[in-house]
Amino acid sequence: MTGEEFEAAYAARSGVSTGWLHSAGRYAEPCDCGEPECEGWAMGHQQDDAIIEDVIVARAKRRDVVAVPYEVAVDLGWI
Ligand SMILES: [Zn+2]
Repeated sequence: MTGEEFEAAYAARSGVSTGWLHSAGRYAEPCDCGEPECEGWAMGHQQDDAIIEDVIVARAKRRDVVAVPYEVAVDLGWI
C-alpha cells in the first residue's frame, strides 16, 4: 500500500476527501506502532494519532464492523 492509497482509504472511512485532509495539514506518514492491524501508515503529524487510528481499526475488526471516526469511538467506549 502506498501513502496515497492509505490516505484515500482513511478519507473514505472518515467520510471526507483527501483534499480535505491535506487542507487540514494531515498526510500519511510511515508508522511502526506494532499493532497487528497496522497498515504501515498512519494519518497525522503525531505518533499518538497513529496509535489511536490503529486501536480504532483493531477494535472495529474485533467487532466485525467498519472503523468509525475518533469521536464515535470515544462515545462507544473503544478508546
Ligand atoms: Zn501503526
